[in-house]
Amino acid sequence: MEITILGTSCMVPTKDRNVQGIYVEYKGEGILFDCGEGTQRQMNIAGINRNKIRKILLTHWHGDHVSGLVGLLQTISNNENPQKITIFGPRETRERIAHLLRAVSFEENRMDLEIKEINPVGVEKIYDGEDYIIQAAYLDHKIPCLGYSLIEKDVRKINMAKAKKLGLREGPLIGKLQAGHSVSLKGQTITAEEVSHIQKGKKLSIILDTLPCKNAYELAAEADILIAESVYTSEMEEKSLEYKHMTTKQAALIATTANVKKLIITHFSQRYKTNKELEEDVRTFFPESQAAFDFMKIKL
Ligand SMILES: [Zn+2]
Ligand SMILES: [Zn+2]
Repeated sequence: MEITILGTSCMVPTKDRNVQGIYVEYKGEGILFDCGEGTQRQMNIAGINRNKIRKILLTHWHGDHVSGLVGLLQTISNNENPQKITIFGPRETRERIAHLLRAVSFEENRMDLEIKEINPVGVEKIYDGEDYIIQAAYLDHKIPCLGYSLIEKDVRKINMAKAKKLGLREGPLIGKLQAGHSVSLKGQTITAEEVSHIQKGKKLSIILDTLPCKNAYELAAEADILIAESVYTSEMEEKSLEYKHMTTKQAALIATTANVKKLIITHFSQRYKTNKELEEDVRTFFPESQAAFDFMKIKL
């Protein structure tokens, strides 16, 4: 899994920061979380091929998270064979996308666009694929806003050296062991546990516009990486409560409560000219933290 941060600004783009967009590539598939204005161009600069995008997950319908959507869809639909795209979003997503596409001259039948409006109660699984699942939950923002977790499935890894010692060779028996079954060879039974171990899947959680809340803690539980918003430094808590956005301290509170391994903060107010102050501040509450910057790449 490779994560590219396409924008780190809250509300308005600045000279150094674009608005929201997080691109995740997993086994060649592109998954885009939010698509603020300018996301297409950010992808160009980051060297990301937008034809890889298969899923777009929208957190909420504030402009800085969705205003690039119509342009991106238009570009993809102009391809000779546009790929199918599934858009996930909170309630009202279907209606709002219809409005967006009506606002421009868009040949809707040129592309296969599937809209999945989701309305989870607590933390819910909204996608179950071969290699990973996606969970979503409502957060605590001014309008319906979703947080997401992308969780890789656990896989059984065969230790071929051990298997060979027991007389096994590559072939159907290894396949059966891989699937967790026991096999018999020359009268002896070999269990999957003897020659393999379970490699735990990685977990990425993305929690943007919100205040700390129960769903946020549950969604981020035990994440390897939590990307969370920190619009303000810790002394600005009054503002954060007023606008339902987090401070560094509140993002760190989620990371601590949820026992995450690493916290990446993003979605910064334009009052901060660089992210240095935010990074120093968040580290005082959660040392395994880093402030994101546009085009930052993270391997997971
Ligand atoms: Zn926002
Ligand atoms: Zn918002």
